[in-house]
Formats: sequence, C-alpha cells, structure tokens
Amino acid sequence: MHELSITQGILSIAVEKANEVQASKVTKINLIIGELSGVVNECVEFYFDLLSKDTIAAQASLSFERIPIQLRCRSCAAVFSPDNLDWACPICREQKIEIISGRECRVESIEVD
Ligand SMILES: [Zn+2]
Repeated sequence: MHELSITQGILSIAVEKANEVQASKVTKINLIIGELSGVVNECVEFYFDLLSKDTIAAQASLSFERIPIQLRCRSCAAVFSPDNLDWACPICREQKIEIISGRECRVESIEVD
C-alpha cells in the first residue's frame, strides 16, 4: 500500500504541473527514488497504469533514478555506502551514523506535449 499512496502523489503532481503550463498531455515523469525509501519501481508502474487512466498522464512513461544509500560517520565524518546491513563506519567502526542520502522519493521533473 506504500506505493499506492506514493503513486497517487506522483500522479497528482504531474497533472497539476501539466495543467499549470496548459499541456495537453504528460509524456514522461522523471522520479528520484532512494534505495532506503523501500519503493519498488514495478509497483509504482503498476499503480500508475491503473490511476492514470482517463487523465492527461495516461500515456506517460516513468523514469526511475535510484539513489544509493550514503551514510556519514558522526565520529570521524567519513562518508560511505553500507555493505548490506553493516552500518558501522569502515574507518573507525563507530555505529553513530547519519543518513545523508537514500530516503529520497520525489518527482524530479516532467515532460509534456
Ligand atoms: Zn568513523
């Protein structure tokens, strides 16, 4: 159900933006999806097909840009991508880390006709 509400958000943003510029249809939606967001591309595509029927975004293709997880160590400030579930700093082995990317989930841009 996670993807359903996300897809509804994506669609309403795309339709709203297209209306703002008085476009006749949305041809492409570029999405930024972080690996930590838990969003599955195929689920978004599935819901998008259902929800976009009878809207000006019905023919739009979806483009997904996946953003990898990046963490920063609070002790030594090293920036790293975690291996699997090991989120300890590879430099000093501290586990006090902050997430600096990977939680993104947004519409980057849309293309219209
Ligand atoms: Zn560290």
